[in-house]
Amino acid sequence: MLTSDVVIVGSGVSALNCALNLPRWMNVLIVTKDAAEKNDSFLAQGGICVLRDENDYDSFYEDTMRAGHYKNNPESVDIMITHSREVINDLIAWGVDFEKDEEGNLEYTREGAHSNKRILFHADITGKEITSTLLERARECDNIKIIEHFTMIDIIARDNVCLGIIGVDKNGKTEAIKANCTVFATGGIGGLYKDSTNYRHLTGDAQAICIEHGIELLDMDYVQIHPTAFYSREYGRRFLISESCRGEGALLKNSKMERFVEELLPRDVVANAIFAEMEKEGSEHVWLDLTPIGKEEIMSHFPNIYEKCLEHGYDITREPIPITPAQHYFMGGVKVDMNSKTTMDNLYAVGETACNGVHGANRLASNSLLEAIVFAKRAAKEITAKFDYYEKNAEEKGTGVDFEKEAGKEKYNDLEALKEKYKKLVLDEIEKERKNRE
Ligand SMILES: Cc1cc2nc3c(=O)[nH]c(=O)nc-3n(C[C@H](O)[C@H](O)[C@H](O)COP(=O)(O)OP(=O)(O)OC[C@H]3O[C@@H](n4cnc5c(N)ncnc54)[C@H](O)[C@@H]3O)c2cc1C
Repeated sequence: MLTSDVVIVGSGVSALNCALNLPRWMNVLIVTKDAAEKNDSFLAQGGICVLRDENDYDSFYEDTMRAGHYKNNPESVDIMITHSREVINDLIAWGVDFEKDEEGNLEYTREGAHSNKRILFHADITGKEITSTLLERARECDNIKIIEHFTMIDIIARDNVCLGIIGVDKNGKTEAIKANCTVFATGGIGGLYKDSTNYRHLTGDAQAICIEHGIELLDMDYVQIHPTAFYSREYGRRFLISESCRGEGALLKNSKMERFVEELLPRDVVANAIFAEMEKEGSEHVWLDLTPIGKEEIMSHFPNIYEKCLEHGYDITREPIPITPAQHYFMGGVKVDMNSKTTMDNLYAVGETACNGVHGANRLASNSLLEAIVFAKRAAKEITAKFDYYEKNAEEKGTGVDFEKEAGKEKYNDLEALKEKYKKLVLDEIEKERKNRE
């Protein structure tokens, strides 16, 4: 059995930012389902929003609310925006390199449904730049240990207090991790869908475990479809064509090469217009024409997208590419408060897996990295402040619990069956919530 002060499940941006904001005297264990770099945080292309100055507050707030169909939690939105500059400064201090102009000032770009340019970026690999830097910093910390290829399959809980997790290591051995505090940072649910831009191993495990243990979930039917993923018939993750391409001038066209929608409307509106156009034309995709951006801008701002499309036989500086909408982001998730605490004691949830209501029914582009970073830091601060309480709580409720025996329970013998069960639990919950809202 392993023990730690805090166990964090996942190794994306939310997990790493939580770990780095915990004090160095705390023993922190990060466990992650695949290699540490295999997560959606590494895939983020477009960028990360920030409040440029006080004059942009109202507009940033309104853009976020409008994109979310005003179903957002206003308090979460306010916290995210007002803390954005602080966390960007943290990232820069840790060594993250954002694009700058010739005078050395930060450069900003724009994406769909943003009224102003307020997105920081690093070419079209912003997520990789941020997350690889945080991962490097975490690996330098003696108090943070990372175990790769370790899949959480359950938690151990007594009287609504989380005492740690149960997982399967790379050799298929089931093991318990005893921890005073547990943090879910397991990302999205794209692996449950046929067409998704997410990694296939992101399958909503934390949400399924919550359903099993009566931990509250929120807005489970709020699933975002991204309008522009590269069209493919192959099995696997769909390659995303960042919204900032449309922000910089790319146009959506039907088979007659005619525009049919205003490109910078919120994602769900654009995705629905594409679905309608595909149905009207009886086609499996529409076209995205990036040539209006210009070759020079394409090569400097979107080199990764350029290379990926070229691999598929399309030169985006000269011709349109086939695109289709795909599942992209999960606005719903494990219900948390403003400090990312779940409805179970000693248990937090951060990043895409959590839901504090910030995105409402639809996420504004480039708000998710920001949300993950702001609220993971808040989780770390609260865990630190309440650590004595959590330690006492875990000791009291954990007395007499045989962790080894818990991990050896028969229900964990058939992992394939467990996986199928979890998948069904989450998809059924999404459907149930959708029906409830109708
Ligand atoms: C292609 C793409 C482009 C994007 N572009 C942008 C963008 O430009 N700007 C923006 O703001 N957002 C963007 N997003 C969204 C953003 O990247 C994600 O919402 C964010 O990175 C999620 O971070 P996270 O830490 O919550 O989860 P992730 O980074 O996905 O990490 C989840 C982690 O949990 C682990 N895990 C999952 N289940 C288990 C388990 N059972 N046991 C152990 N470990 C587990 C995974 O292995 C992984 O390490 C993009 C997303 C995609 C897919």
